[in-house]
Parts: sequence; C-alpha cells; structure tokens
Amino acid sequence: MTARRYLIAGNWKMHCRRSDGAALAADLAARVGLTADPRFDLLVCPPATIISPVAQSVARSAVAVGGQDCHAQVQGAHTGDIAAEMLADAGASFVIVGHSERRTNHGESSATIKGKATAALRAGLTAIICVGETEAQRDAGHAESVVAEQLTGSIPDGATASNSVIAYEPVWAIGTGRTPTLTDIAAMHGMIREKLSGLVADPDAVRILYGGSVKPSNAAEILGLADVDGALVGGASLKADDFWAIAQAC
Ligand code: PEP
Repeated sequence: MTARRYLIAGNWKMHCRRSDGAALAADLAARVGLTADPRFDLLVCPPATIISPVAQSVARSAVAVGGQDCHAQVQGAHTGDIAAEMLADAGASFVIVGHSERRTNHGESSATIKGKATAALRAGLTAIICVGETEAQRDAGHAESVVAEQLTGSIPDGATASNSVIAYEPVWAIGTGRTPTLTDIAAMHGMIREKLSGLVADPDAVRILYGGSVKPSNAAEILGLADVDGALVGGASLKADDFWAIAQAC
C-alpha cells in the first residue's frame, strides 16, 4: 500500500475574529514547531478576512493555512467573491471547495465546484474537494452512487495527489455528533479510492479525508481505517487541545 501522510484540516467556518484566530493558530504553531510531524500535516482554514493574520501567526511553523471557498475566475465583477489567487496572495496554500454548506446554502453544483477546483490548481493551491450524501440519499441506498457522481463532476482536469485532496463528509454527520459506522466509512473510502483511478493519474497517492463529527474520542478508530488519510474537522478544530488530540491519533 502507498504510504500517505495524514492531513488534519480544521474548517473554522464563520468563527473567530482576528485576535482569537491568531491566538488559536499561534497555539497550534507552537505545538507543531518548525518541522512537520512525520505522521501528519496540520492545516487551518479560517474565514478569508483573517487568513493574513493567521498566516503570520503560523509563519515560523509547519502549520499550513487554507481558504474555505474560492471563485472560478481570476478577477472581475463578482461582488463578495474571492479569487483563488487572492487566497494565495493572503498566505493560503489550500482551499476547501464543495463543502456541503456551500452546495446546500449556495446551490453549488458539481460543475461549479469543478470550476473552483480548477481555479485552485491554477493559483497553485491544493484543492480539498468535498463530497458526501444526505441522510435521505443514504437511507434510499444511494450513498455510493451520489458520491461517485460528485467525484466525477467535481474533480478538475489535471488533478493529482499533490494538488488535490478528497474529503468524504456525509452531510448528516456534519456538526451533529453522529458518524457512520466504521464499516460504512471504510466502504465509502474504498469506493472513492477505486473511483479515483479513472479521474486522477496517481489514485493510490491521493489523500482521502473523513469529515463529520470527528473528535478526540473517535479519531483513532476512524484514522485507523484503510484509505482514511486524515480528517476535515469543524467544531473540534476551534479548540487547540481537541484539534491537537485528533492529530495525535494519527
Ligand atoms: C465540517 O464542517 O466540515 C465538519 C466536518 O464539521 P464537524 O466536525 O463539526 O462535524
């Protein structure tokens, strides 16, 4: 099996202001230090308004910074939107695209997300491409086909293990405290790995993260599964102790 480094990514969503965001980032940076842990990479994705101060806080550490969304275009008349190049300019090296809160609250289709992921690659960012089924889709037995379709529709041309990461996040597990069974997570990640072979050049090397109510108490069992190469963490990423404990479970 290809050895893949874990990626532990924190999605801060619409939380934190400049001072508490910079303090949280500095706390993590102090724990990580200058050299990345051989087991994992650590990433924080703050709101776009504080990417710059957060990037400054972690500048002397191996902690990476990412955005939570980007526009497909480089610039133009797109009020309120942010180009991938602007995220890079602010200090980001990753960007999350296709989070279910974007797909649902902003009506983003897989085609839209593919445009955003393409922009991320153009700007030199690593795209974290999110996929995941709703509870109704899982109950109807469609979880795997929904995720397979999202992968086909969202992964950009030219995606490789060095510029793209997949995050499997069942919508019904995000922020709810509920998670799929370990068997279900393993089955979905196995399906995603297989599906990647038609979509990227180096499918075995692509990192596939699990997201949805990851916390210190369940991180080890989830991260111990085959084809789970890290976690995309929401709520628990806002507390340095919890986020660090999840990383220590790698
Ligand atoms: C997320 O927002 O991507 C997420 C997984 O949130 P939580 O960890 O809070 O479920």
